[in-house]
Amino acid sequence: MSEFSSIDESELRARVRTLLDEVHPEKVDSQTFRAKQYEHGLALVQFPEGFGGLGLSPKMNYVVRDEILQHSKIFYDNPPASIIGIGMGMPVVLTYASDDQKRRWLPKIWSGEEIWCQMFSEPSAGSDVAGLSTRAVQDGQEWVVNGQKVWTTVAHLSKWGMLVARTNPDVPKHDGLSYFVVDMESPGVEVRPLYQITGEAEFNEVFFNDVRIPAENMLGKEGQGWRAAITTLMNERVAIGGAGSKKKGGGAISKLVDLWKERDPASASPAQNAILRDRMTHTWIEQELLRLTNARAAAAAKSGNPGPEGSVGKLFQAESAKRMWELAIDVLGNKGLAFEEGYELRQVAGMSEGTEAFAKYQFLRSRANSIEGGTSEIMKNILGERVLGLPGEPRVDKDVAWKDVPRS
Ligand SMILES: Cc1cc2nc3c(=O)[nH]c(=O)nc-3n(C[C@H](O)[C@H](O)[C@H](O)COP(=O)(O)OP(=O)(O)OC[C@H]3O[C@@H](n4cnc5c(N)ncnc54)[C@H](O)[C@@H]3O)c2cc1C
Repeated sequence: MSEFSSIDESELRARVRTLLDEVHPEKVDSQTFRAKQYEHGLALVQFPEGFGGLGLSPKMNYVVRDEILQHSKIFYDNPPASIIGIGMGMPVVLTYASDDQKRRWLPKIWSGEEIWCQMFSEPSAGSDVAGLSTRAVQDGQEWVVNGQKVWTTVAHLSKWGMLVARTNPDVPKHDGLSYFVVDMESPGVEVRPLYQITGEAEFNEVFFNDVRIPAENMLGKEGQGWRAAITTLMNERVAIGGAGSKKKGGGAISKLVDLWKERDPASASPAQNAILRDRMTHTWIEQELLRLTNARAAAAAKSGNPGPEGSVGKLFQAESAKRMWELAIDVLGNKGLAFEEGYELRQVAGMSEGTEAFAKYQFLRSRANSIEGGTSEIMKNILGERVLGLPGEPRVDKDVAWKDVPRS
């Protein structure tokens, strides 16, 4: 018997049409439409009934998209500031939260009404995030948190944050962590912007000074936070690796092709032009490979906890994006060296696309691709150990109580 519900494609299309009769994207805003989409189980169809889905195969999400596009010129994609909430928050809530919490949090994440952020990294714990120091101490029905997080994307816009904190320093690092959902408006939470090389502050430092979290906001059990953290990180890799265009030749590579068409071939020698053309072709093929691999991975994906294969897309996406935007600067020739007037430091409402000076902006932004969501070196470690079965890295602190591990 199939693990999925028995609704077939024609019935699913009929359900989409019922939704469109009730609310039409051309007549309402994104939040209103997406809230109704969730109610109809047409948000993420692989989620269970009552929680934004219909218990179908994730492949069927394409059917929903297709049917909406057949009847509407507008398609409300995930709001840019909700990428973390939808890509990582929803699977972790689905897997670890109580039904009441799911009902409270999931619809508003999906609609974009409430933004979520991920508070894992700290100044001394990034790749080795299990070594983190932020402390949570129980006080009756609450946990009191002190410490600092860093690189927290969209914290300045967030209502809720996924927090991993140390609840027991006397056991090895992975065993002393717990996972909380924090109300970012709680007293004692302080968010300060951090500016990137692009001039934009997508991310922030977050300080916790005696922040009180209700005990029921712990996801999973005390000391089992690492399991929920892994669910979040695996989904993060799938979300980042799979974020590219769904259309052949679409998205970022189409911008590069436009640049190529607009450039002045006389600005380069025939030999340079031949090399650039070769790199263009190679890059187009790489992007197409990435698109097809992502489509296959999305079709095979299950909700909840994806496997280490998510790291393949993440690694390839990061390295390919860096190559692609380096090439864009070369295609621009001398013009690629000057940044447009108006470079300013500013906070952004989500992940900006920097449409002005697109290629130059993306060249700078893409440097972060091989760091965010785990560095390329760490992706290679995961692939080596968990996919290829190569011997693991030496882990000298594995059996040592966290408090006894020397740190600077
Ligand atoms: C744009 C952006 C957004 C981000 N958003 C968030 C967010 O929302 N929430 C959040 O919690 N974090 C976020 N991060 C943080 C990100 O997850 C970390 O920066 C990343 O995991 C690396 O950690 P680190 O910066 O501490 O570098 P380190 O871990 O100190 O690494 C430094 C260098 O050493 C290498 N290295 C480390 N360990 C190994 C090893 N075992 N083997 C081989 N090489 C190794 C790394 O690859 C890297 O080159 C974001 C980062 C960026 C750039």
